[in-house]
Amino acid sequence: MFDWLIVGAGFAGATLAERLASQRGDRVLVIDKRPHIGGNAYDRYNDDGVLTHQYGPHIFHTNSEMIFKHLSQFTEWRPYEHRVLGRVDDMLVPIPINLDTVNKLYGLSLSSDELEGWFASRAEKVADIKTSEDVVVSVVGRELYEKFFQGYTRKQWGMDPSELDRSVTARVPTRTNRDDRYFTDEYQFMPKHGYTRMFEKMLKHPNIKVMTQTDFREVRDEIAYKRLIFTGPIDEYFDFRYGKLPYRSLQFRHETLDQPWFLPTGTVNYPQTEDYTRISEYKHMTGQVHPKTTVTYEYPSAVGDPYYPIPKAENAELFKKYERLAMNTPDVWFVGRLATYRYYNMDQVTGQALATFRRIQDSVPIGADGLADRPAARIQAAE
Ligand code: FAD
Ligand code: UDP
Repeated sequence: MFDWLIVGAGFAGATLAERLASQRGDRVLVIDKRPHIGGNAYDRYNDDGVLTHQYGPHIFHTNSEMIFKHLSQFTEWRPYEHRVLGRVDDMLVPIPINLDTVNKLYGLSLSSDELEGWFASRAEKVADIKTSEDVVVSVVGRELYEKFFQGYTRKQWGMDPSELDRSVTARVPTRTNRDDRYFTDEYQFMPKHGYTRMFEKMLKHPNIKVMTQTDFREVRDEIAYKRLIFTGPIDEYFDFRYGKLPYRSLQFRHETLDQPWFLPTGTVNYPQTEDYTRISEYKHMTGQVHPKTTVTYEYPSAVGDPYYPIPKAENAELFKKYERLAMNTPDVWFVGRLATYRYYNMDQVTGQALATFRRIQDSVPIGADGLADRPAARIQAAE
């Protein structure tokens, strides 16, 4: 009898498995329907020997010392600051929009102070900033919004930014200085030997068993366990009782080229042209030295594996209905990007899993039988 069945071997599932086994001595079975661990962060050396992220580029960044220290138990790190260029009006310019972006695009030589005024003269007044369009036009105006955000967002999400919650485009700031880093977090690193190696270390514990290519729906009645941690899509867990929660998918096209480099930076975005949103080149991130290089094109898609919850009001409403079901399902804990329908980065999912672990510590006595009294709230926000 396992103390825990954990569905999903990504950041949420692996973080919890490790804590439960190492801190409580609980017996844990982790299953994943994919043929590997690591969830969407899975990486591998491809047939040409280039370290590649199977599900698109994953760059670790966080402001949380606690989360960084926690993961540092399972990997060494390589410092890496991600940079992105956008192909806009046939030029390659920095994204997020900064001083150099505007000067290059318009042939100007503004200072930072002057750029503030330049933005202010173009910014549209929006009384109540609600949507992903509002966030951008209220800072840089409509022209830059259309060049950088509208087309990219329509491709990525299949809808106009005016239909999406403001939190989506708010992920990308606007700068008046020359900082061209994509993230400004205090800790910006890549796991030195890759994500999969880090997950292997997390899950290497005598109390943890891992079964890949194992779908929960096929084995749920055949495994004896006391409690469940579910990190897959929450609507699937409840057999889509209230209808499908929309998730956005991507198709990845990986290409290995017989040349050492392809892009000037880790990622190039295409906000105006092409069917794909961006191309990423892993060697920039991993630091691998190799005569060949592997790149990935991302094509957004309505069908396929669920990758992104879609932040908009009606979806949040539907999620709340599933969340209420979750609250009333004893001994099942919902954690991670798909199960809590939150557009979280890896560090946030790790933080959410660690917070869930603390909650388990507070409420589940070691060795307790299943179906014991449990507090209602099992969905934990990130810290
Ligand atoms: P997942 O990694 O999705 O793991 C859930 C697992 O559950 C999956 O492996 C799935 O196979 C399994 N599962 C689902 N249903 C079942 C079932 N019925 N039975 C068995 N197993 C099941 N974050 C960053 O911090 N930085 C980045 O640069 C970054 N880039 C990203 C780029 C892309 C293209 C995408 C899609 C995401 C990116 N992210 C990034 C986000 C990051 O992938 C997530 O935050 C993180 O992987 C979420 O971990 P998770 O454990 O919640 O979910
Ligand atoms: N975005 C955009 N143009 C860009 C980059 C981002 O319009 O050049 C918008 C788009 O809606 C995207 C969101 O900002 O989905 C968040 O971007 P991020 O790079 O964080 O997306 P992720 O890496 O999570 O796919």
